[in-house]
Amino acid sequence: MSETTSFSGNKGLQIEEKLIFEMGNPGAVAVDLPEPGPVDLDRMGGVRKRADLALPDLSEPQVVRHYTRLSQKNYGIDTGFYPLGSCTMKHNPRLSEKVARLPGLADLHPFQPRQTVQGALEVIDQLAWWLKQLTGMPAVAMSPAAGAHGEWCGLMAIRAAHEDSGQGHRRRVLVPESAHGTNPATAAMCGYSVDPIPAKENGRVDLDALKAKLGPDVAALMLTNPNTCGLFESEIIEIAAAVHGAGAYFYCDGANFNAIVGRVKVADLGIDAMHINLHKTFSTPHGGGGPGAGPTVLSAALAPFAPVPYVVSGPDGLELVEGRREGTKPFGRVKGFHGQFGVFVRALAYILSMGADGLRQASSDAVLNANYLQARLGDVLTPSFDGPCMHEALFDDRFLKDTGVTTLDFAKALIDEGYHPMTMYFPLVVHGALLMEPTETESKEALDQFIAVVRGLAEKAKAGAAEDFKAAPRHTPRRRLDETLAARTPILRWKA
Ligand SMILES: *Cc1c(COP(=O)(O)O)cnc(C)c1O
Repeated sequence: MSETTSFSGNKGLQIEEKLIFEMGNPGAVAVDLPEPGPVDLDRMGGVRKRADLALPDLSEPQVVRHYTRLSQKNYGIDTGFYPLGSCTMKHNPRLSEKVARLPGLADLHPFQPRQTVQGALEVIDQLAWWLKQLTGMPAVAMSPAAGAHGEWCGLMAIRAAHEDSGQGHRRRVLVPESAHGTNPATAAMCGYSVDPIPAKENGRVDLDALKAKLGPDVAALMLTNPNTCGLFESEIIEIAAAVHGAGAYFYCDGANFNAIVGRVKVADLGIDAMHINLHKTFSTPHGGGGPGAGPTVLSAALAPFAPVPYVVSGPDGLELVEGRREGTKPFGRVKGFHGQFGVFVRALAYILSMGADGLRQASSDAVLNANYLQARLGDVLTPSFDGPCMHEALFDDRFLKDTGVTTLDFAKALIDEGYHPMTMYFPLVVHGALLMEPTETESKEALDQFIAVVRGLAEKAKAGAAEDFKAAPRHTPRRRLDETLAARTPILRWKA
């Protein structure tokens, strides 16, 4: 533990917080209600508490302090720079939050009659229009609840299309080695076998290796563009042509859309399906499991298989199609109700407040910021690939060779400096990866401060301070946790 200890276990204003179950004093209550009479109890229809609830007895100030202090232990985009690669952790404009909280949007019920939710349906419809406009694609399935869910939706549409054309025997999906883990997981969930494709020296997909793997049993290619090395797949047109030539579909993981919004028309690349992580590109606070939304744009070939529901304009205004219509063969539905409506509202508010020109500038600035990091850190860290990057800068651990310091140690030392670490050890195609995505919302001052810290740490590591790095983090409430034990034997229930 720390060098100096306190009587309380607290460090300065950082309170050593107990679990809520360990607090409390029997009989304490936060509210003061009169004892219910017997008549009231009978009105419960015999549903009555029999055993003690086993909840701690706490007063209101105890509860408020506990949760407020827990919230202060949380590091988020509102507290500091968050260069987590592949996550697009950008500032979430308060305007979008305000719009999402308007009672007319926030207090809707999914069972409300259609006539009373015309405005909400219009939000979904307008956002769908923007997503189609920004990608050039003819259709979009709005309901997937996250990127991974969108991948699943896209592959299910591909599976349905193959089955419809008597190609149901296609059981193999090609996935580059640099792919996000959700890609192979999705393919496996849809019943496909996963076949990896190697990357070339320059971090892009090896086209020849891809062509060699194509065959009559291949259902689809899943490719990320820009890829998880932060690089644009420069042969993407040739890749699409080869995939289509073999009778397969081209799924694009669009999680990195933030790098190309307003600059690249996805439809021109030969893509058949692509999810868009609204929470990343179009700014909803995310991380720690939610919330998100992963609308999936579809080509004309896949559009008939899109899941229900979707919004159409009818004689009495907007309606939700919930079943099969003339000319369509929906593969089913992927989610209850209409999708992640609160995220839709934020995305539309963001898009409308930015405007087409603002969106285009945002992607340009995101790429500029990443290249600024790469240029200013390139001489002390080791960039994995030559040339400019897209929205994220990838380094590997060659700069730490013979220092005794690992990527993990480096990340822990960054925590002591007040920074959330970058993505580490991903993508797997380079050794000891450090993947940094600054996004467009960081100022030059913020980037310069971060650069100074990373340069300082790199120089310190090379000067032989491995012991210091191994001891980091020093200033956090907990130091190094046994992450393997926590993952393998999680303790999820409190027991007295
Ligand atoms: C974030 C991400 C995903 C998964 O998206 P979720 O919304 O977290 O499910 C998939 N692929 C890539 C490249 C990503 O960065």
